[in-house]
Amino acid sequence: MMITPYLYEAYLKCPTKCFLRALGEMATGNAYADWVRTQGASYRSRESQRLTQGTTPDERVMGPLATGNVESAKWRLAIDVTVRTNHLESTIHAVERVVSQGRGEPTQFIPIRFIYTDKLTRDDRLLLAFDALVLSETLGREIGLGKIIHGDKPATLEVKTGALASAVRKVTGKIGSLLTSNSPPDLVLNRHCAECEFQTRCRQKSIETNDLSLLSGMTENERTSYRSKGIFTVTQLSYTFRPRKTPKRAKNPAKPRYIALQALAIRENTVYVHGQPQLPDSKTQVYLNIEGLPDIESYYLVGALVVSGGTETFHSFWADQKSDEPTIFAQFVAAIRDLPELQVFHYGNYERIALLKMKARLPECLHSTTDVLLERAINVLSVIHSHLYFPTISNSLKDIGRFLGSERANENATGLQCIVWRNSWNANKAADTKVTLLQYNQDDCRTLKRIVEFMRSFGCTGFLWKIGFPDYFQERSNR
Ligand code: SF4
Repeated sequence: MMITPYLYEAYLKCPTKCFLRALGEMATGNAYADWVRTQGASYRSRESQRLTQGTTPDERVMGPLATGNVESAKWRLAIDVTVRTNHLESTIHAVERVVSQGRGEPTQFIPIRFIYTDKLTRDDRLLLAFDALVLSETLGREIGLGKIIHGDKPATLEVKTGALASAVRKVTGKIGSLLTSNSPPDLVLNRHCAECEFQTRCRQKSIETNDLSLLSGMTENERTSYRSKGIFTVTQLSYTFRPRKTPKRAKNPAKPRYIALQALAIRENTVYVHGQPQLPDSKTQVYLNIEGLPDIESYYLVGALVVSGGTETFHSFWADQKSDEPTIFAQFVAAIRDLPELQVFHYGNYERIALLKMKARLPECLHSTTDVLLERAINVLSVIHSHLYFPTISNSLKDIGRFLGSERANENATGLQCIVWRNSWNANKAADTKVTLLQYNQDDCRTLKRIVEFMRSFGCTGFLWKIGFPDYFQERSNR
């Protein structure tokens, strides 16, 4: 079977994805994956047209490349160029032909790839290097340089593809072995799954086998090490946990995460607490959640649930465009800066990074207030990571919130789905899409509040203990 960019790209993310694509397995549906595909196709078409505008019909060609006369050919730009060797094939987005000015120097062929994102990854460079390798072997000449045209602006990045050729060959070798072996690779859930078209299928299969990779906090090395000891399932792992006390004299006690304790919490469907989690008391709590588009460093929605003196108030600050973002952050800072004994709770590092980045875009008179907010900000996830083990496969806000009974307007919505929604809103300004995003953000703030309340609801009784869940829920329903 021919190795194409479609398979090559899949392998870079996950061998199983490559294998399933090669088999022609039906995708099980992923709105984000569909959106990425559509974005990629429309960007490629837009940029191809833009490039061809600068050429006459004689200077451009399309489709398969005639390899016989490339040195004397007239064309300067080729679009959708199909090239193939014995086992590699690519339809390169564009190829630039640059005739050398110096005598005797060969004509240069530069593969071009169009990528819609502002930020590029190593995988993007490797895909370009894959194109360069196939072109090089087809034309029988060295191709040491390629270009990536990317982003909305758009920008051009030159990549020394020659330096990546051996990395490309290594991967194509592995793909070749995978495709000839006819047996599927180990199914290992990973960070890419949320963006993958086979997400539902693979998750279902992993649940059926109770596979270790269901535990999102487990590293690849840990998993390999457990498997070498004959531990393949989450339940098997749960029996390996042995409590360890932190030595009393330890000056800087480590706060390790015991993955086997996570497995035990799942098996017993309870919450374990290791050590003594601390969440400071305050008169006012602000539960902060920020939505953004990571690719372009845009932060378009700030949601803050404020609880003070037994009263709840919700603030939403929405930016129609990037230039509005400093205004909404200034409004947020102004709304909460005078609240008494303020504590800001957020989940993960995203909000802290957003505040730090936005501080640079705010007027100088708001810098010190932003610093105070940052000082009073507590990352609830880091406290959970060090001390709490919920019976959930991940520590995501949604998984833990769901376990604690926090309800959401849309149970299946994710951060990736929000990226799709916001981009769709950018295109059509549909009012219901904005309402959906505001609701999603509110639900995150309320879930965070529920988690913090839960963490405050128990006292610490030892270095390792579990919470009697029926008691906790009974107590809540009696209120
Ligand atoms: S869902 Fe995850 S494990 Fe399955 S093919 Fe995709 S990336 Fe690989």
